[in-house]
Amino acid sequence: MHDKGNEDEKSFVQIFIRKAHRGQGEPAEDHWERTVVEFLNTREMEKLSPAKATERAERMAMATLWYTAKRYGRCPWCS
Ligand SMILES: [Zn+2]
Repeated sequence: MHDKGNEDEKSFVQIFIRKAHRGQGEPAEDHWERTVVEFLNTREMEKLSPAKATERAERMAMATLWYTAKRYGRCPWCS
């Protein structure tokens, strides 16, 4: 997880760390990685190249975590 990306990625990082983790970068990073791995381990990803699979898993992780953080102000791993 980084904040050098486009505007969407930047605001995702802000919301996920500040809102869902009260500014704590470490658990946020850990939970982000767990989510990406979870999506990577799905059947659908087996057909893709590792690079493509990672890209898609990151996009899906971002969408999921962003939604929860925005809507409920929390992270699914923390609760
Ligand atoms: Zn968390």
